[in-house]
Amino acid sequence: GTVDLGYRRSLCPPPSTGIGRDTVKALRDSGAQVVAVSRTKEDLVSLSKERPGIEPVCVDLGDWEATERALGNIGPIDLLVNNAAVLLEQPFLEVSKEAFDRTINVNLRSVIQVSQMVAKGMIARGVPGSIVNVSSIVSRAAIFCLTSYSSTKGAMDMLTKIMALELGPHKIRVNTVNPTVVLTHMGRRVTNHTELAKYLKERTPLNKFAEVEDVVNSILFLLSDKSAMTNGSGILVDGGYLAC
Ligand code: NDP
Repeated sequence: GTVDLGYRRSLCPPPSTGIGRDTVKALRDSGAQVVAVSRTKEDLVSLSKERPGIEPVCVDLGDWEATERALGNIGPIDLLVNNAAVLLEQPFLEVSKEAFDRTINVNLRSVIQVSQMVAKGMIARGVPGSIVNVSSIVSRAAIFCLTSYSSTKGAMDMLTKIMALELGPHKIRVNTVNPTVVLTHMGRRVTNHTELAKYLKERTPLNKFAEVEDVVNSILFLLSDKSAMTNGSGILVDGGYLAC
């Protein structure tokens, strides 16, 4: 079924594949107006065909100035999902400046920049809001070769608490979802390592990876008033991985 979020307009970067794309579709299906942000124009075009009426914005969220130009005058937003991320695998001893900077800029700095824009608008209008940051179980559990990526997710969990602390008095809630592997384009990069995939699955009490829909459902819950008292928190979508 659909979820009546009771809000008018949502910003969801990015929608091109996987979790972002299905979140945009679910929000649209629930009746929200959705601004869909992505780096790849073709993905926005195909999404607009699938869900007419979304407002596409094509921008590289790792580029501060371009993001300012693209989203600086975005208008009123009531809900925000910070979903864009890159995963660049490198063993710790080989982590490069370029890969680390790129990962920080896309996965973490853009969250601060876009959330500032959206939250300032909410505060100026005096309306409540909800922000969901898409984190990961790797914010809390180490997996080989994910130094840059995991560092951004660990920082994102803490950033979420700071945002909850400072934005809570303005009735803006901020939370994370922390999924285990989801078999999107990004998730398959992890499961391409068959030994690692086997290990991760066997360590999971439910003995499976998450579906995109599992993550989208938790995002919708945190965006909606059904989670009205949840702030600075996170929902694990991990089949029990972090419980043991
Ligand atoms: P995908 O790779 O399928 O999608 C990632 C999206 O981010 C793509 O649409 C991509 O667009 C976009 N993106 C990347 N860089 C930028 C950028 N600089 N500017 C704008 N858009 C950008 O991954 P998922 O759907 O799996 O991941 C979504 C979120 O879920 C991420 O935050 C990820 O860390 C998190 N997550 C994923 C897990 C998994 O196993 N899949 C597990 C736990 C968390 P483009 O292709 O154009 O670059």
